[in-house]
Amino acid sequence: MIKTIKDFDIKDKKVLIRCDFNVPIKDGKIVDDNRIVSSLPTIEYALNEGAKVILFSHLGRVKEESDLEKNNLEIVSYRLSELLGKKVTFVNETRGQELEDKVNSMMSGDVILVQNTRYEDLDGKKESSNDTELGKYWANLGDIFINDAFGTIHRAHASNVGIATYLPSGIGFLVEKELNALKILDNPDRPYIVILGGAKVSDKIGVIDNLVTKADYILIGGGMAFTFLKAAGYNIGKSLLEEEKIDYCKDLLDKYKDKIILPTSVVLSKEALKEVDVREATIKDIGEDEIGVDVGENTVYQFEKYLSDAKVVVWNGPLGVYEVDRFRKGTLDILKYLTDNNIKTIIGGGDTAAIVSSNEELKSKLYHTSTGGGATLEYLEGKELPGIKALDK
Ligand code: AMP
Repeated sequence: MIKTIKDFDIKDKKVLIRCDFNVPIKDGKIVDDNRIVSSLPTIEYALNEGAKVILFSHLGRVKEESDLEKNNLEIVSYRLSELLGKKVTFVNETRGQELEDKVNSMMSGDVILVQNTRYEDLDGKKESSNDTELGKYWANLGDIFINDAFGTIHRAHASNVGIATYLPSGIGFLVEKELNALKILDNPDRPYIVILGGAKVSDKIGVIDNLVTKADYILIGGGMAFTFLKAAGYNIGKSLLEEEKIDYCKDLLDKYKDKIILPTSVVLSKEALKEVDVREATIKDIGEDEIGVDVGENTVYQFEKYLSDAKVVVWNGPLGVYEVDRFRKGTLDILKYLTDNNIKTIIGGGDTAAIVSSNEELKSKLYHTSTGGGATLEYLEGKELPGIKALDK
């Protein structure tokens, strides 16, 4: 069993917590503080237990000097301080005397936020390549390591796997909640249905290969449906196509034709990101100059029939070009069906989670909405997550 923060005596200990504060920032303001809010239970628990809390997180990507300022984590320290109702000391370096002095003079109940761990990527990708010395250095600052950043748990970085290698380690409440939700999929009640959408087949091959034998049905929408439709012999006009994946789709349809469920109708437009001559048609009637941008009403109805007696659903990827209001209807209709019918649904992060998160009512009715798209996908692919593997068992 993986240890959780509750398994440690953390009173007066220096607890290093890897959070996911990778929040969207626009014009110097945090646009969505969801990730900070989601980190609070673990941080508050540690503080209530009388720990000295040292927080790490990445923010964006740092490839060159010009990436530093826009990915400065200091802005998070202000919001976190407001949310916690207490001072958060920001340390504007990822290693050095100032950091060491501040950590060494901490009292129980103090909070420090260390500058963006990816500042270390300027120097030979030390964070992202899990540089041994860096992991050791950070581990030396504390007594216990808690990983509460689900968004990067599928990566082996110095601030998660590196630190965990050198300290007693476990997970926080956010990661625990994510893993508990995903665990349901290891032995799901049936029927167990997977909904896949998003742009490309190639991004989801690992998931399809792993789940096609485990799930009862895989309902396919989004851009990826069109390579499948092409493989099934339909004319798809100018819809998104991955030529090199046609054979893969053909094989899959041959082997699992009763399991892989494709759209029967689609919404068409002359442009993908704009409503131009929009109409709905069956998949047999797609014009040469048309682009499939969403699933049609008939598909929604057909998908709902499959979902009607589902016990567990996992969903990754929107069913249409959701960036255009009108083309997100198929995704929203299915989401509404799932929530109206109380079907246990896990939203696997990424764009689908972003759609859900913008609608509090929907979100509250869904069983679980993951905070980590990449991590959830890798879990669904059946891979072991490095950030978990590195922790004490
Ligand atoms: P993903 O990151 O794989 O989940 O893909 C999300 C992207 O898929 C979004 O940007 C959508 O616009 C895109 N997408 C969904 N449906 C379609 C479609 N029919 N054609 C092209 N792109 C689509």
